[in-house]
Amino acid sequence: MFNLYKSRRQVIADAIAALARYGVASNLQEKLTAVFDEQPDRELYRTNPRLLAAHLQIPERQILQILVAALREGIVALNWEVECPACGGIDPAHQHLNELRSLHTCPACKTIHKTDADDNVRVTVTLDARLRKLKDTADDLPFRQRMDRRYGPVSAHRLLTLPTFRQLFPKETLPPNESLLIRRVAILFTDLAGSTQLYSRRGDTKAYELVHSHFDLLFRIVDDQGGTVVKTIGDAVMAAFTDPHAALQAAIAMHHQLHALNQSLALPPTDWLRLKIGINAGPCVSVTLNDRLDYFGSTVNTAARVQSVSHADGITVTEELRQDPATQAELNRWPTQPRILQLKGIDHPVAVLDLSPLTAPGLPAAIAKPVL
Ligand SMILES: [Zn+2]
Repeated sequence: MFNLYKSRRQVIADAIAALARYGVASNLQEKLTAVFDEQPDRELYRTNPRLLAAHLQIPERQILQILVAALREGIVALNWEVECPACGGIDPAHQHLNELRSLHTCPACKTIHKTDADDNVRVTVTLDARLRKLKDTADDLPFRQRMDRRYGPVSAHRLLTLPTFRQLFPKETLPPNESLLIRRVAILFTDLAGSTQLYSRRGDTKAYELVHSHFDLLFRIVDDQGGTVVKTIGDAVMAAFTDPHAALQAAIAMHHQLHALNQSLALPPTDWLRLKIGINAGPCVSVTLNDRLDYFGSTVNTAARVQSVSHADGITVTEELRQDPATQAELNRWPTQPRILQLKGIDHPVAVLDLSPLTAPGLPAAIAKPVL
């Protein structure tokens, strides 16, 4: 049928119905339809996603997942807006990640600055004109500034580490030789202890199955904690988290859940899958390599080195994690003395803490003594 006689509400509702495919519940579809139909124009133009989250009464992560699906369906357009650290002006002229450059020139004051994905680049969305034609007055800068002050902007880094975004937009990458500065990220590396012996004892097929189920488990935990799997290297996983505390929680969950998996598979303890985990936090750069976003820099190198000095069933973290208050509180619960290490390829001594979540005091007896 022609949609000549459809109400605006119906046009919006029909478009949003497509989000069911992405697992958006019908009550949220209805709420989003109401917001897009009823809110004033200025709330639908270069909208801070957190304002929409407030309307829908859902967390930031969930609204971002919904908006990524809406972007895919052409319901909204995404804007990568670069804020000038000198004059505070905002350059909205980027619809795609590949339009961003390592160095950004402010169109207003001509200041050249590094493109910092945490502090300078924010993401906003605009409702597609096919669903609702916004009036020119929708461009209301003082209103947007008020919303940014109230809710805080959503950084590009938040969106880049959202697994849904990477899945649905694998081609949204940075141009070759361009990078974004990431002010703070927690990098977690895992590796399987004794996997060579595992392959030789259980045979390639069975060992591969075990390793595969361990990957499934780790990927799910990273996702649950709001992180993103950057890549796998052999049996190792590299994951990134905007929140260091979430990285630590993920590492603890990995050990516990892998321990439960070992028991459910009734493996002999010699064949248990056991992880060695390292975590570091700090600044790095994000670049595109082999069509995917990756992280580089000494924060990443140190995280990998720290993983290599970790023990089976252990988590080794750098002192950098203490800079986050929530992580510091968590670390203070562990009776652990720092080790000062000279790590290969790192030119300064690194202080690390070793945690053993499976033998931590206060755990159920079944978990507390898993290792023979
Ligand atoms: Zn400027």
